[in-house]
Amino acid sequence: MRLYEYEAKKLFTKFGIPITSGEVVETPPQAKAFAEKLNKPVVLKTQILSGGRGKAGGVKFANNPEEAQRKAEELFATKIKGFPVEKILVDEKLDIEKEFYLGVTIDRINYKLVILASSEGGVEIEELARKDPQKIKRINLDVDEPFYPFQGLGLAKWLGAKGDNLKVVGNIAVSLFKLFKQYDAKLVEINPLILTKEGKFVAADARASIDDDALFRHPELSEMGIEKRHEEGEMTKREKIAREWGIPYLDLDGDIGMFPGGAGFGIMGNDFIQYFGGKPANFMDSGGGPTPERLAKMLILLDENPNVKAIFGARFGGISRCDDFAKGVVMFLKDHGLSKPMVLRMTGNMWEEGVRIFQEAKKDNPEIFKNIEIHGIETPIEEIAKRAVELAEKM
Ligand code: GDP
Ligand code: MN
Repeated sequence: MRLYEYEAKKLFTKFGIPITSGEVVETPPQAKAFAEKLNKPVVLKTQILSGGRGKAGGVKFANNPEEAQRKAEELFATKIKGFPVEKILVDEKLDIEKEFYLGVTIDRINYKLVILASSEGGVEIEELARKDPQKIKRINLDVDEPFYPFQGLGLAKWLGAKGDNLKVVGNIAVSLFKLFKQYDAKLVEINPLILTKEGKFVAADARASIDDDALFRHPELSEMGIEKRHEEGEMTKREKIAREWGIPYLDLDGDIGMFPGGAGFGIMGNDFIQYFGGKPANFMDSGGGPTPERLAKMLILLDENPNVKAIFGARFGGISRCDDFAKGVVMFLKDHGLSKPMVLRMTGNMWEEGVRIFQEAKKDNPEIFKNIEIHGIETPIEEIAKRAVELAEKM
């Protein structure tokens, strides 16, 4: 679950990471009132579940309360990165000497956690990562390995912090890492960590994303006013439909529709497709013992996806049964029809019965089978993957 900036900043406060104490407002007059109370120039930041607000016009400055009201009116009236603006964080405007970057996330390539830091933070960090990766320091740590204060100091030194600020920045890094671990985060990020003209370090932005499956371990979040929510905004149309149907499904950027058995088979199938030079259009999991109705729905998701050129299907009957599988496929073919070529392999539990169901359906309705090739145990799964890649290339 992705947190809003103001929510992530509540966590920062809990861990002693310095922020300025802004206020979340829902109307322009509230923005004006808070600017009056501060009696300083302010920054108005739209609270949406997306980064890149600065570049998209979602961060504005105001020198006085009237201007704050006007800028808030403008922000509430627009969509930023497709999100309607419902809340704005009004904060003291900091005078920036320099912008830094600090983050902690999961390094999936090295199977470790990684602390990322750069003395060139700000809105161009993604660009920097591409063009000048050596300007971003990476510290890999095992999942159960601590990040010690002396390591924090080393990092602060590398970032160029001086004097008392060495300890300040070191502590911020250590705290950010602790926060990441304690809250089962997938990502925590300070960008920018600002060094002000007065020489103080302040987290000017805060980003945090917590593993949905660990949310039950953190009832204290709702006590802090951070409510659990689904991330509608980050799901594709098909992912939303799949969730409604109770099918674990993810869109990927390829063109081969994946119609596997369980999750393990799904991952393996995706690996095979890539191995043979293809690109999967999705990941999907049928779950154990799927009903014919569920299987038909899985196929609908693939057949109606305009990116899908060919479908890879594999069913190993273990707990689930090939006869149920064949019924689901036949139900889909009769009710919906298959508009893309599909290569399918079916083996295991109740295989003979599955074959019989297919043969009978084909006798009655040969035309609905015109796009399908059905294989059994005689064809290795690699051949099925290769064939799916071929079929997609031909389209
Ligand atoms: P993001 O674009 O969604 O990451 O939003 P940020 O909160 O990081 O703001 C984007 C940029 O706005 C920052 O990199 C800063 O350059 C600028 N900014 C944000 N807060 C302040 C502030 O208090 N003072 C000044 N001068 N600039 C700020
Ligand atoms: Mn930012």
